[in-house]
Amino acid sequence: LFNFAAGPATLPENVLLKAQSELYNWRGAGMSVMEMSHRGKEFLSIIQKAESDLRKLLDISDDYAVLFLQGGATTQFASIPLNICKPEDPVDYIVTGSWGDKAYKEATKYCKPKVIWTGKPEKYTGLPVFDELDQSINARYLHICANETIHGVEFKDYPTVKNKDAVLVADMSSNFCSKPVDVSKFGIIYAGAQKNVGPSGVTIVIIRKDLIGHAQESTPVMLDYKIHADNNSLYNTPPCYGIYMCGLVFEDLLAQGGLVEVEKKNVKKAQILYDAIDGSGGFYRSPVEKSVRSLMNVPFTLEKAELEGEFVKEAAKEGMVQLKGHRSVGGMRASIYNAMPLAGVEKLVAFMKEFQAKHG
Ligand code: PLP
Repeated sequence: LFNFAAGPATLPENVLLKAQSELYNWRGAGMSVMEMSHRGKEFLSIIQKAESDLRKLLDISDDYAVLFLQGGATTQFASIPLNICKPEDPVDYIVTGSWGDKAYKEATKYCKPKVIWTGKPEKYTGLPVFDELDQSINARYLHICANETIHGVEFKDYPTVKNKDAVLVADMSSNFCSKPVDVSKFGIIYAGAQKNVGPSGVTIVIIRKDLIGHAQESTPVMLDYKIHADNNSLYNTPPCYGIYMCGLVFEDLLAQGGLVEVEKKNVKKAQILYDAIDGSGGFYRSPVEKSVRSLMNVPFTLEKAELEGEFVKEAAKEGMVQLKGHRSVGGMRASIYNAMPLAGVEKLVAFMKEFQAKHG
């Protein structure tokens, strides 16, 4: 079965089999990772290895802290302004889809955010021209959603923040570890794990250390980066099993040759799918501007919209599930994260051609 869900999403089979093989007895410890004290030496070795492998994958320097948190990326929508702004501080948001919009709306409670560009009038199908952005001169940060999971719009490059004291902040939930990223361009990168790197329940925050320790007074302890950084993500009970699973995925990505190799595979998969859409003579359509199409989430529509239900049903019968588009945009969406094998995309494309031959 090929699972095209947007998240929680498919995980690498070898990682799941490895987890299964040590489910009851982790490497001779006599217990499952789920049963271990988060302060015991076994779990400490797990979280430390996960962090050091992630640092290798993304080439994260010692200027940055890596935090394994809970609450999903949604909690970060509040944590970010609470930690790096005062209530009266201006900040900028580029809104390229529903997630950027949610992040902006949450920030309105904790600082003074401004939407400096929105793709809403074009139904979130493009990105701004960076040079034309009207950035606020004294904004504390510029927030982007690096990959809009619902609309399938992905930044291929990143804007430079105008105010030299400000930082770029990116929600990378749906393209985290799908390609190399120059972490030094960002003040904060955050991501829910449940798309590319693990099960839901873990949120990863990579934050430049000088941004830590300035939280607003009312910040709940669970949202205060300093508390988590000072305690190596062990202030309270972390999502231990989820962190262990992320660690297995990081090992697997390194074994594949790191993110340069992972990106090559992702480019190939996406290319095959977009080519099939573009080559269908309009039977299938991708609404997203070509240069910013996501490598991870591929929304598409059918010219004959009345056939969409049948498309999803027939695909499921052939073992390709979760292809229905998000309820807010309709159509179809194929999420093809790292763990989706090339064979899954090839099978989908073959099915699309057959479906067109039948109904075109
Ligand atoms: N940001 C993006 C880009 C997402 O795709 C999602 C979830 O799908 C979220 C944020 C919200 O993440 P969570 O459900 O982990 O809070």
